[in-house]
Amino acid sequence: MNAPENLQSIAQRMAQTPRPLLINGRWQPSQSGKTFDVFNPATGELLARVAEGDAADVDLAVAAARDAFPKWAALPPAARSRILWKIADLIDDHAQELAMLESLDNGKPVSLALAVDVALAAQSFRYYAGWCDKLEGSTLQTNLPSMHAYTRREPIGVCAQVVPWNFPLLMASWKVAPCLATGNVSILKPAEETPLTALRLGELMIEAGVPEGVINIIPGYGHTAGAALSGHPGVDKIAFTGSTEVGKLIVQAASGNLKKVSLELGGKSPNIVLDDADIDKAIAGSANAIFFNSGQVCVAGSRLYADRKVFDRVVEGVSQVAKNIKVAAGGDPSAQMGPLVSSTQFDRVTGYIKTGRDEGARVVTGGGRIGERGYFVEPTVMLDVNEGMRVVREEIFGPVLVAQPIDDLEELARVANDTPYGLAASVWTRDLSKAHKMAAMLKAGTVWINTHGVLDPSMPFGGYKQSGWGREYGKESIELYTQMKAVYAQL
Ligand code: NAP
Ligand code: MG
Repeated sequence: MNAPENLQSIAQRMAQTPRPLLINGRWQPSQSGKTFDVFNPATGELLARVAEGDAADVDLAVAAARDAFPKWAALPPAARSRILWKIADLIDDHAQELAMLESLDNGKPVSLALAVDVALAAQSFRYYAGWCDKLEGSTLQTNLPSMHAYTRREPIGVCAQVVPWNFPLLMASWKVAPCLATGNVSILKPAEETPLTALRLGELMIEAGVPEGVINIIPGYGHTAGAALSGHPGVDKIAFTGSTEVGKLIVQAASGNLKKVSLELGGKSPNIVLDDADIDKAIAGSANAIFFNSGQVCVAGSRLYADRKVFDRVVEGVSQVAKNIKVAAGGDPSAQMGPLVSSTQFDRVTGYIKTGRDEGARVVTGGGRIGERGYFVEPTVMLDVNEGMRVVREEIFGPVLVAQPIDDLEELARVANDTPYGLAASVWTRDLSKAHKMAAMLKAGTVWINTHGVLDPSMPFGGYKQSGWGREYGKESIELYTQMKAVYAQL
C-alpha cells in the first residue's frame, strides 16, 4: 500500500468506511454490527467510525487465538524473529503515514509522533526480534542421585493486551512484541479514544507474515470488550497499561481463572532539583518532564521539588518555558504541544486546575483553555501547594505542574515518597554522592539523574506500590511472558 502523502488524504480515507476489527486474520465488522465514533481532538470533529467489539467478538478472538497458539509456539525461533524484524521494517517504511494518523487520532504533533511513538515502536519490535532465539532454561545440580534436572522456559498462551490512548501505537508495540517473541499469541484492545494506529499496525503485521489468529485486534469500550477479556476463562494472561483504578478492576476480573496479570499504572512522579544542579539544564528538563505529550505521560514529572535556595529561579524558568510553548494542532509544523486527547480528558484536567484554585493553590502560569475549538489547555504551573491537596496527591494526566520548595534531603525523600504511586522520579544535581543516595531512597521503579523520561528496551520498566505489577522491557519482560517448567529425569 502506498503511504498517503498528507493529513487530509489520511483523514478522508478514515472517514470513508467503518474500520473493521481483526479476528483470525480476517478484517470484519463486529458481531453486533455496531460501530463507535472516533474524534480529532484538535477540532472535536468526527475522524472515523470503528467496529465496536464486545463479548461476542472476544469469544471469537479467544477461539482463534487458542487455535493459533500451539502452531506459533512451535515455529522455529528464527522464523518468529524474521517476522518481528519485518514488522519493524514496515513500521519504518510507513513512518510518516503512522505519525500523521497518530497525530489526527491523539492530537500530538506529527514531529513528536515520528521521533518518539513510531521510532520506538519499530525499536521495540527489533529488540524483541533479537530475543526470540535466546530464550533458555538451565541444567541444575540437585541433591538427588542420578537425576537429570533442568528447566524449560515456555510461553503462557493467549494474552489479552489492553492499552491506553497516550502513546497508542507505541503501547501496542510494547505489548505485542514481547508477547509474540516468546511464542504467545495476542488479543489487543486499543483505547476507545485512539484505535486507528493499532488497526494499521495489524495490517502491517499481516503483511509481515504474522499467521492468522496470532494477532487479533478488538477495538471497543473498556467496560465491555476490556472486561470480557479480563474475565475470559480462555485467556491465560492479561497485560494492562492505564489507570490504577481500572488496574484494580482487572485484578478482580482476572481472579476467576487466576490468569497471570501484569500492570503498568499511573504515577505522580517527583522531579527534584537540588541547589547544586546545573540550573539551566534542570529548568529545561523539568519543563519537558511535565509538558511533553501535553503531560499525558505515566512518568510525567508532575511534582516539582526544588531546594528553597534555587526554588524561585527554577519556577521562573519553567514558567517561562511554559509561556513560550507553541500549542497547536498536531498537523501544524510549528506545534510543540497538541490538545488533550478528548473532551473527557479536557474536563478532567481543567477540573483539577479549578480544584487546585479552590484548595488554595496559586496558578502562576497558564490555567486556561486555548481557543474555542478542540481540547487545548495552557501549560500550567501551580504554587502554594501542600501534601494534603488533591492536585498534589492525584494523577492529573495533563500539562499541570505543582511546585514546592524544600529545605533538606531527609524532608525531600519523605515528601517525594509520600504518594500511593511509585512509577518514576528524577534528581538534578552535580553531586554524585547525593544523586546516588537519592536514587536509593526514592521508592520508584525508575530513577533518572540529570535527565527525565528516557527509556531503553534493555532496561526494566514498571512501578513500585500502586503503579503496577511486573516489569516490561529488558530481560524482565521475557520473564513476564514465559513460565518455567522443572523437569526431573531419573537416569
Ligand atoms: P483507563 O480507563 O484506565 O483506560 C486504559 C485502557 O483500559 C483502555 O483501553 C480502556 O478502554 C480500558 N478499560 C477501561 N475500563 C476497563 C475495564 N473495566 N476492563 C478492562 N479494560 C478497561 O484510562 P482512561 O479512562 O483512558 O484515562 C483515565 C486516567 O488513567 C488518566 O487520566 C490517567 O490518569 C490514567 N492513565 C494512565 C496511563 C498510563 O500510561 N499509566 C495511560 C492512560 C491513562 P476504553 O478506552 O475503551 O475506556
Ligand atoms: Mg477510559
